[in-house]
Amino acid sequence: MILQCPKCKSIHIKSKNYARKVGGTIGAIAGTIGGLSAITYGARTGASTGLIFGPFGATVGGISGAILAGLAGGAAGSSAGLSLGELVDSKILNNLKCTSCHHSFSVDDHGIPQNYHDYSDMDEYDDEHLIEQVS
Ligand SMILES: [Zn+2]
Repeated sequence: MILQCPKCKSIHIKSKNYARKVGGTIGAIAGTIGGLSAITYGARTGASTGLIFGPFGATVGGISGAILAGLAGGAAGSSAGLSLGELVDSKILNNLKCTSCHHSFSVDDHGIPQNYHDYSDMDEYDDEHLIEQVS
């Protein structure tokens, strides 16, 4: 499928992926914050597991447990944010931009260009979408 600008018919189109980028960042932050509570748990679990190997084992176990929990939280949040951002980009925002005339637009599931004016039209779009499904 070749994407074409609905305004000037140019085929020089690029995707902006704003929400994807923002979603990934917010997801990583949220995941890390979520990971912080997991860090306490990870440290405690690591420490009690490490106790088998004495006090030094408890310290090493606690630190590695905390690091693992933090990393897992950040990574999970980041990928969740990326997926959500992709959905927002493809369904709601004018994700595509014509590099010839700088017109922003979206395409529907069939690749047909849609003309949403700006981000404040999001509620209006949802209403239209619901009506379409009913009729
Ligand atoms: Zn154009």
